Amino acid sequence: MAGTDVLRQNYGRMMQKIKDLAVVYSIDAIMNWDMETKMPPKGINLRSQQLGMLGQLEHKMSTDPEIGQLIDKIRNHPDYESLSEIEKRNVYLTKKNYDEMTKLPEELVVEIAKQSTITVGTWKRAKAAKSFAMFKPELEKLFELKKKAAEILMDVKGTATPYDALIDMHESAMTSEKITKLFDELRDGLVKIISKSTSSPKQPDESFLSRKVPVDVQQKIANSLVKVIGYDIDSPAAGGRIDETEHPFTNGYYDDVRITTHYYEDNFASSIFSILHEGGHAMYEQNLRPEWMFQPIGTGCSTGFHESQSRFVENIFGRSQEFWSYYLPQLKGLTGNLSDVSQEKFVHAINAVKPSKIRVEADEVTYCLHVIIRFNIERDWFAGKISVSDLPQVWNEQYMNYLGMKIQDDSEGLMQDTHWGIGYFGYFPSYALGNIYSGQLLAALKKDMPDWNQQIAKGNFQAIRQWLTTNVHTYGNLYDPADLIKKIAGDEINTKHFLNYLNEKYSTLYEY
Ligand code: ZN
Repeated sequence: MAGTDVLRQNYGRMMQKIKDLAVVYSIDAIMNWDMETKMPPKGINLRSQQLGMLGQLEHKMSTDPEIGQLIDKIRNHPDYESLSEIEKRNVYLTKKNYDEMTKLPEELVVEIAKQSTITVGTWKRAKAAKSFAMFKPELEKLFELKKKAAEILMDVKGTATPYDALIDMHESAMTSEKITKLFDELRDGLVKIISKSTSSPKQPDESFLSRKVPVDVQQKIANSLVKVIGYDIDSPAAGGRIDETEHPFTNGYYDDVRITTHYYEDNFASSIFSILHEGGHAMYEQNLRPEWMFQPIGTGCSTGFHESQSRFVENIFGRSQEFWSYYLPQLKGLTGNLSDVSQEKFVHAINAVKPSKIRVEADEVTYCLHVIIRFNIERDWFAGKISVSDLPQVWNEQYMNYLGMKIQDDSEGLMQDTHWGIGYFGYFPSYALGNIYSGQLLAALKKDMPDWNQQIAKGNFQAIRQWLTTNVHTYGNLYDPADLIKKIAGDEINTKHFLNYLNEKYSTLYEY
């Protein structure tokens, strides 16, 4: 066989193994979706065995020594350069994942899995009991294990710090040094907008947002909203559906991407923005290039980029004057109890700036401060500057300094999020990076489509969706986030555009 044929054969064999793995992961995803939405309570024991078995299979398949051998054969082949840019990226991503999966000792992986189950269980009880003392010993154990793993991954990935290795799992090649610089700028900009908004004499009246809207009406609203954004749940070719869970999420891959929401009778806006947010995530997954399905490049670019899509649909589109000039009459028709609310009053209320203690309830402006606080703490924690015992004090000080909030107990403080209990370290920064990217995307969109807001006012989201597909979705995971944002926006990641967008919007709403 000619040399290139061997290379192509090995590449084909590697891609087949990756495809098999992607199919198994999609089974895992649908089992998890079912567990959250449909499974009867008694099914939990069987389900945990099913998921445990799948987890073992995934581990075995993703650490298969043959993958490692194929990667070496491909990379060392004299004709390696004859591979296309896409093929080389697939090899790179396969190697990156294989190294991550194989360089961690199996005992450590098992220990982390066990400890995170214990820690998250303890977190639930400790949160209910408002007792950090209860949570602390288990969190300490999990943190030490994660730190050990991060130190190994630091060598594998060649990052400057263990924490950077964890960030890299979600935001490839991003570093805590870069994030610190970005977040310092972002914080300074946000603090000014918050202070001008909250001290303005013009304050929103939000009272109508708690008017009762029955669940069946909210379901109709959800169904009509997904039509606007082009998320198909009811045609014969539909690739989506909506179900109910306490915490909304998106789950799926390409042709089967499902979203969830929650309906509160006295807070109809909550479901509206959950639907738009998750719809933005789903749009990304569904608009990836079909021919890249089952390939490493056939995924979103990063957690931050994923969040840029959900925040774009939820906030930049979904909380704009233009969207509500189109949609408010429909909403009024559906609810029947908002006829006295003007568009101006409505849009100001859904954009109320209010420093608060709970991240998931935060508005568009204060939200990133919650994320910055978690990032600051994780960074200093992994650097050994603070210990688990210091967490409550550091947390409470930062909430006072950044948001002016006095934390009464640790349940509304550092125990509010599940992330640390599960061992998700390095994940938080992506939430704010997503907002930063979304600002840069908006600036680029405006250049290409100067009448973008008139399109929204006509209810035409299609043109914007197409722009996002052409500029973001279609690239899948072909580039690292730093390269992708540069390609789309023409400059490196920076906070200027997101802050400009907020300033323009909030100075109009609050007349400052
Ligand atoms: Zn999201």
